[in-house]
Amino acid sequence: MKSYDVIIVGAGPVGSYIASQLAEKGHSLAVVEQKAALGEKICCAGIISPRCVDSFALGEDIILRRANSAKLFSPSGRLLRVWRPETQACIIDRAGLDASLAKQAQGRGVDYWLGSLVSSISIGDDGVRVEAVGQGERLDFKARAVVIATGFGSSLTQQLGLGKAGDSVMGGQVEVMSGVEEVEVYFGREVAPGFFGWLVPTSPDKALVGLLSRRRPEFYLPKLLSSLEAEGKIASAGTKPSYRGILLKPLAKTYGDRLLVVGGAAGQVKPTTGGGIYYGLLCADIAVAILHQALGRGDLSARSLAGYERGWRRRLGRELRMGYWARKLYEHMSDAQIDRAFDIIKSSGIDDALLKAEEVSFDWHGEVILRLVGHQLLARAIGVVKIPFRSK
Ligand SMILES: Cc1cc2nc3c(=O)[nH]c(=O)nc-3n(C[C@H](O)[C@H](O)[C@H](O)COP(=O)(O)OP(=O)(O)OC[C@H]3O[C@@H](n4cnc5c(N)ncnc54)[C@H](O)[C@@H]3O)c2cc1C
Repeated sequence: MKSYDVIIVGAGPVGSYIASQLAEKGHSLAVVEQKAALGEKICCAGIISPRCVDSFALGEDIILRRANSAKLFSPSGRLLRVWRPETQACIIDRAGLDASLAKQAQGRGVDYWLGSLVSSISIGDDGVRVEAVGQGERLDFKARAVVIATGFGSSLTQQLGLGKAGDSVMGGQVEVMSGVEEVEVYFGREVAPGFFGWLVPTSPDKALVGLLSRRRPEFYLPKLLSSLEAEGKIASAGTKPSYRGILLKPLAKTYGDRLLVVGGAAGQVKPTTGGGIYYGLLCADIAVAILHQALGRGDLSARSLAGYERGWRRRLGRELRMGYWARKLYEHMSDAQIDRAFDIIKSSGIDDALLKAEEVSFDWHGEVILRLVGHQLLARAIGVVKIPFRSK
């Protein structure tokens, strides 16, 4: 049986980042991943802020394009173009990110067990046992602690008594041929109920078309593709769309004896847009600090690891609550209300004011939400009765 200080389940960006950071601090690590290879296409638009790229030194080579503008389309086709002089978002090669973080971790001595699905984890006083199935064979590992970084949809967290995952949404995406140069976002109940669709150019002749939807993404995505094709914005997709989920509310508990849950599996995701790479990595840093201390103290009890949850909730809690509140508000809006909101935002210059405000950023949406619903005319139009938050 192989033995490590920490086993990470899942080689997404969060799992590999944690493995790499802990290995650099001198701990022995293994990452166990169900996929047989990293670097294959992933259902993720791969849009992150320049701040995310810089803070986590993700490297220039994964950036496909930089965007300083986007076109937002209302249900009836009204256009709002948002623009700032400097780069607002980096469109990255998402599969390349996973591969590059894994390579960095391997360079620091982390063992990767690919093609190995973790089926059970048992936690005892003397350590953790992780059981996986790889190429028809059973693999057994022993560790002092385990990190669940499985992203959306794993039953391991429930198995370990951390409760059922809460509200979630499904999305779909496909690569298409397209010469469109700017990111486009499409709103409306007929496009993507409760969420939005996107066209994200990744190179001069390719783009990702996708959506998140409260209902039947496998119905709405082909519909969006047909309408973009009819508009001449894309040529038909050569490959099949892929579908994946996102947890919109964090797990009630994200730690236990010898155990942490981080990233998409914990619901550390912006509820407004579903973006989870930056928040996942922010929480990964907190997880690394707490685990490193606990390993050093030789105390991996739930009490010793509780600081992880306190830390990430302090950092993200308010944003997640505000984002989720705004999300529910948006989901109740009719197409006519969304159209009207576009009109008001444009005619009263809210868009310009937001774009000029320094506190408004790609990663933190609380301030934008407060500014939007604080505008009386807009608040009335979208049916805001009471704002349960105040400016900090
Ligand atoms: C359609 C869509 C578009 C998105 N667009 C964006 C975007 O533009 N920007 C952004 O920031 N975020 C986006 N996200 C969210 C983002 O993809 C996630 O937040 C992010 O991938 C979470 O990273 P993670 O490392 O926690 O988990 P993941 O990236 O999901 O990685 C988890 C890994 O664990 C493995 N795994 C799962 N279960 C097991 C098991 N039992 N045993 C072994 N391995 C296992 C999986 O194979 C996977 O490789 C999008 C999500 C979707 C669905």
